[in-house]
Amino acid sequence: MIPGPGRSITAFAPGRVNLIGDHTDYTGGWALPMAIQLGTTVTLAPGGDRVRLSSSVETATADVGVDVVDPAAEDGWVRYVAGVVAELRPPSGGVGNVTTSLPIGAGLSSSAALEVALALALGFTGTPLELAMTCQRAEQRASGVPCGLMDQLASAAGVEGHALLLDCATNSVEPVRVPEGCEVVAVHSGRARTLADSDYAERRRQCEAAAAEIGPLRDATVADLKAVVDPTDRRRAHHVITENGRVLAFVDALKSGDLEEAGALMVQSHESLKVDFAVSTPGLDELVADLISRRGVHGARLTGAGFGGCVVALTEPGVLDLGWRLTPSGGAHVVPA
Ligand code: ADP
Ligand code: MG
Repeated sequence: MIPGPGRSITAFAPGRVNLIGDHTDYTGGWALPMAIQLGTTVTLAPGGDRVRLSSSVETATADVGVDVVDPAAEDGWVRYVAGVVAELRPPSGGVGNVTTSLPIGAGLSSSAALEVALALALGFTGTPLELAMTCQRAEQRASGVPCGLMDQLASAAGVEGHALLLDCATNSVEPVRVPEGCEVVAVHSGRARTLADSDYAERRRQCEAAAAEIGPLRDATVADLKAVVDPTDRRRAHHVITENGRVLAFVDALKSGDLEEAGALMVQSHESLKVDFAVSTPGLDELVADLISRRGVHGARLTGAGFGGCVVALTEPGVLDLGWRLTPSGGAHVVPA
């Protein structure tokens, strides 16, 4: 939708919390994020050949030409703005601002929410999948990290009351109802997530090396791992193969209302991310141990890429008086004027 002259356009995109299935998206596996009520709003008055934005959480103003070619050359958050502009190539720019209710750098996908809301505010009109893929490319160009599609797809395709079973081989989305009688809570570990670019890229390379030996990890079994020569690659692939299985088992547990089983799978997922995938931190491990020792907490695990940020817990209602109580929410949209 291109607004008329002088009319500003407002778009909202939610963050996401990943219930289970981390570091599975970029090998064509399964993941189960849910869009959350916290998110980012971009308001833009279209016009001109530059995109000028201020942000409630940044002092620097973004000022990017619509013909920007090298987003990574920009500073800080301006790279994300430039990444979206470079992918979209909007016919005109605009002037506006960004506000957010998300914590930044906490693993709840503030970066994807910014990209998706900005793309919509700049007039993007494709499907949620096309929107997500455009913003994934924007994030990769901005950050240099070869990230998967999960964050952007969860933000673009969220369904109220549901988590989203992502099949990252086909990029299809199956909404899975989050049962009544439970709560999803994110708790910050106290350390900002430093998505160590090189660590993420290295994990991705290790998974690809294992897949080159035994075929797509999504179709592989633990027995196949014998054929992976390098022990580190084997451990990384062990995480991915077992995590894919846990995502599908978790969906079954949600559908049958077995929250104890769902929680146990989350704890196994954390252990696998810690031991096999080596993306946890002592702070995340301590927080998970603390949370799962509390009455009424079914399970907890690090959420997102790891290296800091948040833990997600599945609990009985009202048992945790800390963190963010997250509700499964709808996807990104232009806010009616
Ligand atoms: P996460 O996506 O988990 O919050 P990232 O490290 O992927 O963490 O992205 C955080 C970065 O995204 C910030 O450092 C900033 O550059 C950018 N960003 C996210 N939201 C905003 C916002 N509302 N305003 C300005 N920059 C933002
Ligand atoms: Mg991010």
